Amino acid sequence: MKTIDDINFEGKKALIRVDFNVPLDKNFNITDDKRITAALPTLKKILNDGGAIILMSHLGRPKNGPTNEFSLVHIVAHLSTLLGTQVHFADDCIGQQAIQKSLTLKPNEVLLLENLRFYKEEEKGELAFAEKLSKLGNVYVNDAFGTAHRAHASTAVIAQFFTGAKYFGYLMASEIYNAEKVLNHPERPFTAIMGGAKVSDKILLIEKLLDKVDNLIIGGGMAYTFAKAQGGTIGNSLLENDKQELALQLVQTAKAKGVNLILPTDTVIADDFNNNANTNIVLTKKIPNGWMGLDIGTQTIANFSEVLANSKTILWNGPMGVFEMENFEHGTKAMAKAVVEATKQGAFSLIGGGDSAAAVAKFGMEDQVTYVSTGGGALLEYMEGKELPGVKALNS
Ligand code: AMP
Repeated sequence: MKTIDDINFEGKKALIRVDFNVPLDKNFNITDDKRITAALPTLKKILNDGGAIILMSHLGRPKNGPTNEFSLVHIVAHLSTLLGTQVHFADDCIGQQAIQKSLTLKPNEVLLLENLRFYKEEEKGELAFAEKLSKLGNVYVNDAFGTAHRAHASTAVIAQFFTGAKYFGYLMASEIYNAEKVLNHPERPFTAIMGGAKVSDKILLIEKLLDKVDNLIIGGGMAYTFAKAQGGTIGNSLLENDKQELALQLVQTAKAKGVNLILPTDTVIADDFNNNANTNIVLTKKIPNGWMGLDIGTQTIANFSEVLANSKTILWNGPMGVFEMENFEHGTKAMAKAVVEATKQGAFSLIGGGDSAAAVAKFGMEDQVTYVSTGGGALLEYMEGKELPGVKALNS
């Protein structure tokens, strides 16, 4: 893996794919700048070397070409503040203006290109579009782990125009380092906590983890498919009817491989999918009709926490309940606390991106775990053992 530490950027023009797909409010203020701050170490190293930077990113999902709503111009001011230098902006990611601005860019200057996804060619991974982008710099850096599982023009296809001059940014490198550490060099006991809405989204990862972990904790909405498959009644809780057989198979496989698979024993139920609904705590396999499980119960919190307290490596992907609603956040919050506690005792904890990262952020515990991934889908696919196009393109 060639990282940006392998090159001095003095006099170079680094064309960097970043993931600045940040959430904006209706006045176009950035409501969470984590994706930008995550790329700062890479940008600062290149500027400190005396390089110039041309940034490429997407923002949102524009359908039909340029719109103000999805313009990256909205992040220029904040990015300039973070970098301590006025960032230039090209209001088209290709074409004369972009070429001109990149040509006249001086060392230590930064140019941000307009949203790549204003061109359909980006997501289609079109070679001619990638080639046009490639003309804007003489070194290619990819630091967009969040989109590394996409074979888009700027994330993968473009790399072929930079033979011998393509590098992993620090964020990409550390994402891969941390995922590899958990998957291939875990200190034991190794515990994975899986949660979230659906079993179907996480089957491949669960199967893969059964070859790796000592304990597999399953919570969140997906646990009810297991409870039903095992003969429980689950009321109106989330159910993937066609995944019951699979759930039983996973339980069997875990047993055969000597993995301790731990499911919730009790559940916070509600009579409506609503923060103000009536609630109760019952056995997970005895949820009455008309009620749905929206969080793990107190006994389950105690069981799961004990397993985490005795773990040396923890991978967490997916919330334990509907953590977006205050009355159903307790299970997820308790797990976050248990992960933080285990980390204090020396465990290595990796929080998978997406909703688990959002949950840890909501509870203000991001700095108390070992690593919070910035990649949702990308991390899942990497851990499932898939080769990510963005990673492959840099390595080949
Ligand atoms: P995922 O993207 O698969 O990690 O799923 C995350 C979503 O699952 C979050 O929005 C949670 O609100 C939701 N979720 C977790 N537990 C439950 C549950 N028991 N019932 C319904 N939704 C849930």
